Amino acid sequence: MELITTVTAMVALQAQAPRPLGLVPTMGFLHDGHISLVRRARQENSTVVTSIFVNPTQFGPQEDLANYPRSTERDLEALEKEGVDIVFMPSTGEMYPAGFETHVDPGDIAIPLEGEARPGHLIGVATIVTKLFTITRPNHAYFGQKDGQQARVIQHINTDLNLGVTVAICPTVRESDGLAMSSRNSYLNNAERKSATILYRALLHAKELFNQGERDTSNIRMAMINLIEAEPTAYIDYVSIANLETLREIKRIDQTTMISLAVRIGEARLIDNLIISEMTE
Ligand code: AMP
Repeated sequence: MELITTVTAMVALQAQAPRPLGLVPTMGFLHDGHISLVRRARQENSTVVTSIFVNPTQFGPQEDLANYPRSTERDLEALEKEGVDIVFMPSTGEMYPAGFETHVDPGDIAIPLEGEARPGHLIGVATIVTKLFTITRPNHAYFGQKDGQQARVIQHINTDLNLGVTVAICPTVRESDGLAMSSRNSYLNNAERKSATILYRALLHAKELFNQGERDTSNIRMAMINLIEAEPTAYIDYVSIANLETLREIKRIDQTTMISLAVRIGEARLIDNLIISEMTE
């Protein structure tokens, strides 16, 4: 496994690398969710590149950039074990040298949900992913459904800018009690960790109502909110029931739908989602 820290070396290496090349972008502090993407990439590509870069432009001024958890040695060991060929781990200055000022704005799809709760976040994501795509020139790139809006934003910029990457969106990996794996779960103390299952419980409750025939989104949203508000340490940022493609809120579930939510528990701001459609059981 090669550890690459400069853009020049990464560009040179990918130009020589056996194809297809699969890219798995991460911010490190790897867990089984990340590893599931790496395994899929390993199955489908001759060369696997994993990037580890805590991207400052996707954090707001009041957010957790300075405290974002890091575990570089452990991450490198895990990636080596998975048979990754190249780890791209640039410094902030390498990715954003003096004079950097171009940003990628994905448009309407980045306005609601995370876009509204975290102004500039998805522009930061779109910008760094565009840079990673142009530096590593992947044939395939792998993202998690866990960050549902982010996944749609990446598909959208890939199409709009003709980046030519096959984007795979992989299922959310969960702890045994349903909590979606996330680097930010490390912020939770024991009591908060127990409360954090409320996100998935609320999503499952929504799915159950849907399976019982409920299609009115205001009823489903209200049931979710009531459940979450009964959890003393949980504060709702948003509960959304939206069309999966446009991410616009809908009144009735008669289309493929993403139910998503953001909830604050202690120091952590957690997100999760489920996709439902008439095919959902
Ligand atoms: P991050 O390091 O949080 O930026 O995540 C890197 C990639 O891993 C993103 O595409 C995430 O959507 C994906 N990811 C994070 N958590 C999970 C999870 N629990 N299951 C599947 N993919 C995940």
